[in-house]
Amino acid sequence: MNRTRARYAVVGNPIGQSKSPLIHSLFAQQTGEAIAYEALLATAEGFEGLVGEFFREGGSGLNVTVPFKQAAWALCRQLTPNAARSKAVNTLYRSEGELAGANTDGVGLVRDLRDNLGVGIGGRRVLLLGAGGAVRGVVPALEEEAPAAMTVWNRTRERAVELARDFAGSLTAASMEELRGQQFDLIVNGTSSSLQGGLPEVDAAWLASGCCCYDMVYGDEDTAFVRWARENGAAVAADGLGMLVEQAAESFRIWRGVAPDTASVIRRLRGDH
Ligand code: NAP
Repeated sequence: MNRTRARYAVVGNPIGQSKSPLIHSLFAQQTGEAIAYEALLATAEGFEGLVGEFFREGGSGLNVTVPFKQAAWALCRQLTPNAARSKAVNTLYRSEGELAGANTDGVGLVRDLRDNLGVGIGGRRVLLLGAGGAVRGVVPALEEEAPAAMTVWNRTRERAVELARDFAGSLTAASMEELRGQQFDLIVNGTSSSLQGGLPEVDAAWLASGCCCYDMVYGDEDTAFVRWARENGAAVAADGLGMLVEQAAESFRIWRGVAPDTASVIRRLRGDH
């Protein structure tokens, strides 16, 4: 049967290495949803025009990745509560004729931690490294899990301070000096330093007994942060592949009303299907 397929895409820069087209095509096969999903490269000047054109030409939904999540937030006429709070959008669609935005990164991280890795967040001390679009996007979903405390450190301190101001009452910005002597149950690396094979500033003394270290970055090999965590006795050391698949599944559910199975897709991407 030749059905017209609904059009979806991921927009970013760079975009060549994105696994989103593969993940969404696996979801489509699994659920029988008739979709086409491609990767689109945008420039800073061209992003808004590309989004407008995509939806005018009948596109059904876009994922947005580095570095356009805050630009996507600014374009939306409707926002889910988490997207409004985080000021970052990774999922676009049309609702009542208007451009609408959601942020599924936080749900993705929480589901990977809680459901796939068995790591609880409620009552735990959480340290977030980085204050870019990714960390911004996950704070509301982490907040909902009611951690005991959430602290953010960023190389450029003003960005951490600004983020903590946006989440006053549940997030505190700290300098390296202020982090000395503190311990955490969950440390999330939301910096892109692993992409260059490096580590942000880290201190093994931060790891409480049973600590989970989670790198939002993923790769074919362990990231530097995952290696560091293992070498320093983390109880769980995980990369961000599970988060990637879980955030994609939540976007797919928003667009199609069907929740795909993620475990089989994570196994397939890890190469152990
Ligand atoms: P972004 O907005 O460009 O922010 C980058 C962050 O990394 C900033 O906090 C930046 O600090 C910090 N940083 C970069 N290089 C560093 C270094 N050498 N040392 C210390 N800090 C450094 O990017 P983003 O959107 O937040 O994404 C961050 C990472 O998360 C990316 O690698 C992305 O691929 C990954 N991510 C993964 C998923 C997933 O599903 N697994 C989802 C979203 C994002 P400054 O402010 O000082 O520049």
